[in-house]
Amino acid sequence: MNSADLTFLLLRAATAVLCGLAAKESWGRSRLPGQPRQRRWRSRFGAAVLLALGVFALEDGVGEALGRPGEPLGWRRWVWVILDLSIPAQVLAVLATLRQRDRLEAELAAAVRRDPLTLLPNRTGFAEEATVALATAARDGRPVVGAMLDIDFFKAINDGWGHGAGDVVLRDVAAAMRAMLRPGDVLARVGGEEFALVLPGVDVKGAEPLLERLRAAAATVPHPGAPGQRVTLSAGLAVVQGTGLAALESGLRSADGALYAAKAAGRNRVMVAG
Ligand code: GH3
Ligand code: MG
Ligand code: MG
Repeated sequence: MNSADLTFLLLRAATAVLCGLAAKESWGRSRLPGQPRQRRWRSRFGAAVLLALGVFALEDGVGEALGRPGEPLGWRRWVWVILDLSIPAQVLAVLATLRQRDRLEAELAAAVRRDPLTLLPNRTGFAEEATVALATAARDGRPVVGAMLDIDFFKAINDGWGHGAGDVVLRDVAAAMRAMLRPGDVLARVGGEEFALVLPGVDVKGAEPLLERLRAAAATVPHPGAPGQRVTLSAGLAVVQGTGLAALESGLRSADGALYAAKAAGRNRVMVAG
């Protein structure tokens, strides 16, 4: 074997390695969680083609280098080798771009469902998560309670100590409430200083003390004003009957009515619809 044969064989081996890397990347993409079916199959097909290309390149290299020792390889063969090398390298570059697209897609999907200040779900995220919670509870034959919560006199905090101080209160109230809830409970920020809550697996009797604990949790948040001042909130709750968005909206409308009554009765309290 002369040095040209050896170089040829090494370049062929490099093509095979690049093809193997690209095949592994492509196969990995087909296993990404949430990857659409069509993309999954395209990635698997790509992995199989790349692997076959790699095997052929290696087999061809071994054949050329060992099969005709001392025979010149000719410029046409070298052009093919360079082309073969460039194909898997380009595939790897495309796969890196696709990975970046997948990551951006996932980030965008999360961003449209989440409120950036409190990191709670927003209206869109709430509708999705709450309807799943409703369906799961219905399947298990468990009741669901919906609640609307609203920070009292929040405008006064903004007006008195600035929008930034208001933001801090909003963020801290959200975190304090979230810390009191179970993983399956859905808490969302659905307005300026307004929150919606879905509690699967509890009835109104069980939900009322929980809402009182949320009210107490909000009171632990430092008020930007004088030390004696407390952050308070009012809440209304109602049973959610049925599943789907219409049932959720209907239950929360009743809860909103109870919230309105809590405000009218002097705020800083929890009231049950009906
Ligand atoms: P009530 O007790 O009746 O609920 O009175 P309130 O002052 O809490 O309610 P109101 O609806 O009068 O004021 C809500 C304020 O919330 C007005 C709005 O400027 C403010 N707000 C809405 N979104 C944000 C936000 O993201 N950050 C801050 N700091 N303020 C916000
Ligand atoms: Mg308010
Ligand atoms: Mg409000």
